[in-house]
Amino acid sequence: MTATATRVLVLNSGSSSVKYQLLDMNPDSRGGPAAGTRLAVGLVERIGEETSRLAHTPLATGGDKRETEGPIADHGAALKAVAAELSADGLGLDSPQLAAIGHRVVHGGLKFTAPTVIDDAVLAEIERLVPVAPLHNPANITGIRTAQALRPDLPQVAVFDTAFHTTMPEYAARYAIDVATADAHRIRRYGFHGTSHAYVSRKTAELLGKDPSEVNVIVLHLGNGASASAVAGGRCVDTSMGLTPLEGLVMGTRSGDIDPAVTFHLKRVAGMSEDDVDVLLNKKSGLVGLCGDNDMREIRRRIDEGDERAELAFDIYIHRLKKYIGAYTAVLGRVDAVAFTAGVGENAAPVRAAALAGLEEMGLAVDADLNAVRSGEPRLISPECARVAAAVVPTDEELEIAQQTYALVSA
Ligand code: ADP
Repeated sequence: MTATATRVLVLNSGSSSVKYQLLDMNPDSRGGPAAGTRLAVGLVERIGEETSRLAHTPLATGGDKRETEGPIADHGAALKAVAAELSADGLGLDSPQLAAIGHRVVHGGLKFTAPTVIDDAVLAEIERLVPVAPLHNPANITGIRTAQALRPDLPQVAVFDTAFHTTMPEYAARYAIDVATADAHRIRRYGFHGTSHAYVSRKTAELLGKDPSEVNVIVLHLGNGASASAVAGGRCVDTSMGLTPLEGLVMGTRSGDIDPAVTFHLKRVAGMSEDDVDVLLNKKSGLVGLCGDNDMREIRRRIDEGDERAELAFDIYIHRLKKYIGAYTAVLGRVDAVAFTAGVGENAAPVRAAALAGLEEMGLAVDADLNAVRSGEPRLISPECARVAAAVVPTDEELEIAQQTYALVSA
């Protein structure tokens, strides 16, 4: 890596999509870009279809978003198309200023507790984890291989969704099932959204003017997927997602916690196949299963019109959230802050108000005026007198991946 190589390309490869951001991590304050300046952002979706779409925004040049539609056969073609867009802005991936490519990798199992420079052994281990992350790791591997082919000379770094949760104590990470069976099949609670929980818990400490080691935070990452975590002094001690992202909170399309016997029942009594049950619980449950909509804006609009199904879905969502706030308060013993983040957490004031309503005995309260403020900045929504701070802390997983990647390759 040359001294001027300060750019990091962050890639988040899904099964039919690639999200990307090019960031400059130059810490130079003398007229250079600030660390973490976004130079370009974009998305390729519907890869493998006739109607693939690439949307690219060249932030460095201040240019408008460019959108192109047409068939993009595979991830290799997608990354080449992205590289061409970046080149058109003078930000080509062949630039000596590119220091590394940081990949979001969903499942790192127990082995990967930190960001890792990818070599053949690392790639083989990510591949070995495919049985516990069949939907995500194969796409991540394809993204890595494609990027390696494009720039074989460049460090490629894996940043794992599970890494932040590897500090969970064994009693929080183990399911109470037969140990030999669990170990033979690597069945345990891994947790996900780790880069977000790490970033938001640190930012929350910053908002409180404290070091992360001094504060206990409950992070509520409420996007389409949703998870809660209990973070004690900067270390995760519990999280709501488990072996897969299905466990825990009610989500846009996932059920979250459920009696596992429901699955036996569906197979024995309703005659559903394994795959049917998988699709039901992951894609047709949660808010969409309860009321037909998974967008919180639409659900609130329906509630305002007196729609009872939407109201019940909202109440079930909030009830689950409250149970986790209560549980993690008990797990942590002392809570300094509850932080809301991601699409719903950052934007849906009624969700935040309802989740904390009636928890005054636990030191939690919401100031209606502060909660109504719309802003992209971290902010408090609790009154000054509240014993526990409530906050909205926008997440930035790409920045966190870029920071972790750059820290590793520039060390
Ligand atoms: P993902 O899990 O896909 O990354 P996001 O964190 O982007 O999800 O969250 C997407 C969700 O955020 C949407 O499904 C919607 O429910 C919610 N959302 C986004 N904007 C708003 C808003 N202004 N008000 C309420 N909910 C919102």
